[in-house]
Amino acid sequence: MSEELQEALNLAGDAVSRAADGTVQLVGSECGECGKNVFPPTDVCPQCMSENLSSRKLSAQGKLYSWSVVHAAPKGWDLPFIAAYVDLPEEVRVFAHIVDADPEALEMEMPVEARIAVLGSDESGTAIESYAFTPVTKGDS
Ligand SMILES: [Zn+2]
Repeated sequence: MSEELQEALNLAGDAVSRAADGTVQLVGSECGECGKNVFPPTDVCPQCMSENLSSRKLSAQGKLYSWSVVHAAPKGWDLPFIAAYVDLPEEVRVFAHIVDADPEALEMEMPVEARIAVLGSDESGTAIESYAFTPVTKGDS
């Protein structure tokens, strides 16, 4: 799991789009041959091996698929954290942290939305930001 987390951080720079209104959207790849959407962005379609891919903004909201609370991780991560898979409407399953959430209150299929969050700090104590998801609360838009 730590490798996936590292990958998520390294990719956060070009895999996230921030709108002026604060909306955060993940940016994946769309295959020009078979139409499959992929996240994180890739150069080769995992479904048909085509290299005809283009950048595609994904929905800001998705549904929680599964999650677990992580109590042990490499140095630098704020613990504990919630690691989860989120399904986006584009049929993409994204591995990400869930932030600002009570683990006890999480439910399968609950709506979550993308945001930028501080997930840890590097060796010099600088905050590391990346994308994460947070439960959508009623009245929030
Ligand atoms: Zn394809």
